[in-house]
Formats: sequence, C-alpha cells, structure tokens
Amino acid sequence: MPAPMHGELQPPIFRYRLGGFEIVPIMDSKVIRDGLTPSFGGETGAEEVTALARQNRIDPVRYQHPFSPVLVNTGKELVLFDTGNGTLSAEHDALKGRLPPGQLVARMAEAGYKPEDVDVVVITHGHPDHIGGLVRGGAPVFPKARVVFGAADFEFWKKGENVREARKFNRELYVKICLPLADRASFIKPGDSVVPGITAVDAFGHSPGMLAFMIESQGKRLLNWADTCNHYVISVQRPDLPLDVDDDKEKAAATRARILDMAATEAMPVVGYHLPFPGIGYVERFGATYRWIAHGYQLYL
Ligand SMILES: [Zn+2]
Repeated sequence: MPAPMHGELQPPIFRYRLGGFEIVPIMDSKVIRDGLTPSFGGETGAEEVTALARQNRIDPVRYQHPFSPVLVNTGKELVLFDTGNGTLSAEHDALKGRLPPGQLVARMAEAGYKPEDVDVVVITHGHPDHIGGLVRGGAPVFPKARVVFGAADFEFWKKGENVREARKFNRELYVKICLPLADRASFIKPGDSVVPGITAVDAFGHSPGMLAFMIESQGKRLLNWADTCNHYVISVQRPDLPLDVDDDKEKAAATRARILDMAATEAMPVVGYHLPFPGIGYVERFGATYRWIAHGYQLYL
C-alpha cells in the first residue's frame, strides 16, 4: 500500500534563546490573499511590484499572510506581543472570510504555556489582527496579565478623530475590546520599558502610534518590528511604496526607512508579525535599498 497523503504541514511554533530569554513566535493563523498589487504599491507601483515578485521567485498575485504573536519569557515574566485574530470572524460579520479564526491559545498550549501564565500582554498597535485575541465573548483571554498599550496609539483610537473610512469598523472594535481594559493597562511611549530588557521604539505610521520593541538580554538584541514591514520582499526592497493598510502612509514609509537602516546597520535579528513564519531574519543593504535574509541557524548556535 502506498503511504497516505497527509497534506501540507507548516509548523506554527518556534522557540529559541536570546541571551537569558526564550523567544517563541507562534503563528496564530494564516490566510492566502489575492492582490499583492495593488495592496502593495497602489496602481502606480503595479509594474514594479510584479517585477520584484518575479525576481524574488514569489507569485506576483497571491501571497501568504501569517499572523504571528511573539512570546518572550524573560525568566521572571512571560510577555506576549499581540494576540492574533481570536474569535473576531465568528463574532463580527464584517470580518468573516477576511480574518481566519485565531488559534493562539491552543498553540501556546502545545508549546507549554497556559493563558494564566502570561504576565504582560503588549499591544503593538490597535489593528484587529493584533487586538482580536485579547477578549473572548467580552472576557479577558489572559486573565492575570496587565496590558500595555502605546499611549499615542491608545489616544488615537480612543478619540476616534481622523479615522479613515476603511478603519471605521476597526475603531468600533477598539472601543469595544480595548477601552474596557484601560483600568488594568499601562501606557508607554518610545524609550519606555515594558519589563527590564524590553524597550519601546517609535514605529508610528502603519497605525498612528504603533510601537516596535528592542528585546535585549546578556548583550544579545532582537528587534520586534511588528508591522513595520508587512511583506518580506516588497516592504523591505521598496520601503517607499505605499501600502493600503498603512494609516499614515508618509509616516509609515519614513518609519520603514529609519528602522530598516537601524536593522541593517546593527546587523541584529528581526522578528515581524506578517513575515513568512517564523518571521525571523536579518536586513542587509542591497544597492540603494535593503534585502531580507531569512534566519538560517544563527539563533540556534
Ligand atoms: Zn497586522
């Protein structure tokens, strides 16, 4: 008898050491989307994006879009960056088919963590795929965790001024999910620490107050850039091109340029939320721009 076909297998959990910390990217979910253009680069960038896709041996139309929160165990505290999609698509018709069901809690369990083990949840920014797993049916999913929001991002979504049309529903979600957590939350700005070894970095633009985070232990550093670059080819090689889901497009492009420069100059590993899982790699200078080098084994030596 021939061996049975078991179907695609893409491991959703990785764990590696960074000094005295353990870093655990967990793929909450993934979706295949059409329309690499015009999502990336708009109508005017279509030709360039298509050419870039071909040069990099990826499909010029369809792309995989993973959603990958990151757990960091500092040895003293368990910190979770972002919470995936949770039950958003089941609870909100507007998101059906757009966001896959979140599986973060089940996958955390496979890796050995319970929701009540989480001491701190850090929300890099207020978009649905990052806040969706914070609550389920109105109740906090991580019952013992304090929640950390970027102060500027929280203010923006709370006030609800200048929210672009495409984000009106996002704002409603934010009000429902995040505002009730304010009394157990802390609010930070770039330069502030979450816990010793984890410091916020200005990544404003994709969401008006998005934060990236420098994670440092025993002299080893890792940058969690959240959604700074949402695609490992297009956003890294053409950080100037507009992206449909960036809220402040100019600021997002300026942030990409600044953070790519920092990552390339310091040659440090980077982890990102929507990069091919496990979303870890390095940025190298490439002509006048940059290129993503996926992680090989550097963090396992
Ligand atoms: Zn996102």
